[in-house]
Amino acid sequence: MQGRQAGTAGNVRGNAYIAGELARLGLRPGGDQGGYLQRVPLMRYAVDTAGGTLQAGSVNLRALQDYFPYQPSFDLPVRPIDGAQVVYIGARADSAALPAREALQGKVVVFRSEAAGQSIAGPDMNPAGRLGLAAGIVITDVDRLIASFAGYLRAPRVEMASDAKAPAGVTQPRLIFVPTGTAQALFGKSLDALRPGDAGPTLHGEISFAATDVSATNVVGILEGSDPALRGEYVALGAHNDAIGIVAPVDHDSIRAFNSVMRPRGANDAPGEPSSEQLGRIRGMLDSLRRLHPARADSIVNGADDDGSGSMGLLEVAESFARRGTHPKRSLLFVWHTGEESGLQGSRWFTDHPTVPRDSIVSQINVDMIARGGPQDEPKGGPGYLQVIGSRRLSTELGDLVETVNRDGKHGMVFDYTYDANGHPDNFYCRSDHYSYARYGIPIAFLSTGGHRDYHQVTDEPEYLDYLQFARVTRFLADLADRVANLDHRIVVDKPKPDPEAPCHQ
Ligand SMILES: [Zn+2]
Repeated sequence: MQGRQAGTAGNVRGNAYIAGELARLGLRPGGDQGGYLQRVPLMRYAVDTAGGTLQAGSVNLRALQDYFPYQPSFDLPVRPIDGAQVVYIGARADSAALPAREALQGKVVVFRSEAAGQSIAGPDMNPAGRLGLAAGIVITDVDRLIASFAGYLRAPRVEMASDAKAPAGVTQPRLIFVPTGTAQALFGKSLDALRPGDAGPTLHGEISFAATDVSATNVVGILEGSDPALRGEYVALGAHNDAIGIVAPVDHDSIRAFNSVMRPRGANDAPGEPSSEQLGRIRGMLDSLRRLHPARADSIVNGADDDGSGSMGLLEVAESFARRGTHPKRSLLFVWHTGEESGLQGSRWFTDHPTVPRDSIVSQINVDMIARGGPQDEPKGGPGYLQVIGSRRLSTELGDLVETVNRDGKHGMVFDYTYDANGHPDNFYCRSDHYSYARYGIPIAFLSTGGHRDYHQVTDEPEYLDYLQFARVTRFLADLADRVANLDHRIVVDKPKPDPEAPCHQ
């Protein structure tokens, strides 16, 4: 399915398969207009590299090589930069020497970030602040950051199509990341030789994004509850039906050997330069793989674990319940969300436009990557290893039930709550679809066997899954859903509900 990127033909075919299975199992359609699919309006925005050129004085700037536009919002018009003069404003430490707000009106300011590895010390972007009238903001001296995120900066962005009207007169500055070399070429000297207020050349040309409608679908099926008094309440089960899609081709075994040594958690680890000792280990691994078969180029991020495992686990749960003589008292709401990888869009859309009353969803259990978790993948991994995230953040009772169901059902799951810690840098609580539900005060539990070297790589393939582990997690998931759906009371929310529109904080 070519990596099932949201809205692509492979994603459409994958969803048609899920919907077909739901029909076969006799689940009630829970999507739009009596069908299993719910349309999620998505737009893809790609930097228009063919459209125009950007020139700074006599220097020709190549999009996505010499500069990387980044647009925080596609709902607000961007200020034009054609004809704008470039002005160096230095780093945050130079803010006392910054030219006045009015002096920067219509200029393209070049800010030097004190880049510390993965993050940037950004300029003050407050519209009322010193840069509030600038036409554009160029951030430079972030070469490591650009290297780490080059793929992200080059790739088209997928955003929820918005029908919100921008308030009259409100615009945003053009935001651009540039390698240090580009900034030096603009001014004809090194950054260290520049002083805040130094003027550079005038820009000619414009940056634009080409927009394409890539609307995609959630898949929604309902297993009707058996208790007439409770079947109007739903236990939601979720996974994501999309994956990353197609990337530049790489040799499967080379990238896997490299990641085994340098990026044991795949895209969750920043790539570094291998030492000679590391290079030796990579080479050794690759040599032994080469004895098994020749090089094999690949460009498809299959997402076998992420989230083929969760998606198909959910389908197994649906099948298991559909075959039972008696359904649970409450209804089960199965939702395969699209656009998770492009920013939790399918789950956001579903929870903003639920096809059952939002208040009738008593809990949501999300599964994302549930077929790995061995010691090769996770230092604490092993049989039954399962990361649990968010299960007590709204409901102590749900957190307790996760434990009780495991004990009572003798599932043998070994829970790891490490990634649920407040402020954990991986921020998993905010990074998968359950958060779209939690923001409305719906108690959630996020289950995952965790990261690995194949995360968001072309090597996330079925041959590396642990099917026993996959089955174990899936049985536990079914049992947990069954328990919540059969409670004699609605699961109790005893923690404060968040503001649904506020940014997520773990
Ligand atoms: Zn995922």
